[in-house]
Amino acid sequence: MEEWENLFNILGSSCGNGKEDSWKWLGDKSDSFSVASVRGWMHEDLEVVNNYVKWVPSKCSIFMWGAEMNKLPTLDARRRRNIQIDSSTCSLCETADETVEHLLIGCEVANAIWSFVASWCKVPPIFGFSVRDIMKFHTRVNLFPSKKYALQGIIIVASWSIERKDISAKRG
Ligand SMILES: [Zn+2]
Repeated sequence: MEEWENLFNILGSSCGNGKEDSWKWLGDKSDSFSVASVRGWMHEDLEVVNNYVKWVPSKCSIFMWGAEMNKLPTLDARRRRNIQIDSSTCSLCETADETVEHLLIGCEVANAIWSFVASWCKVPPIFGFSVRDIMKFHTRVNLFPSKKYALQGIIIVASWSIERKDISAKRG
């Protein structure tokens, strides 16, 4: 948790002080955020997001790439490869199978982190139906390019930190 706080202290200067400019939702012409507008853009043609953020540590970018390609060694993935495991339940919430979508989207721990990031960055709720939806989230908010870039990086680092929490939970 200390690492997490440090991250936000470091990033605090580049994001979250949106006084001169406002952060608007672009998914809907009315500028208002709605579940319907989110569903609408999620079904658009989603190109592969491969322009990772330079200031993000490469371990975080590599993690994100792995998550998008579904190459993470989640419990579910290990079970599919017939690797002996005691349980494929998510070690963070212990309520669902640990898939990459669960870890980064469905898990209550992920939800708490996304809601923190959204309120801190003053953007609409961060959610999606796939890892790519999360990775593309920054393109759907009306921000100066530098803030979009910051938000993209924050989302990558936050995703990585969710996985770190999962790994330390597994270790007990
Ligand atoms: Zn979970």
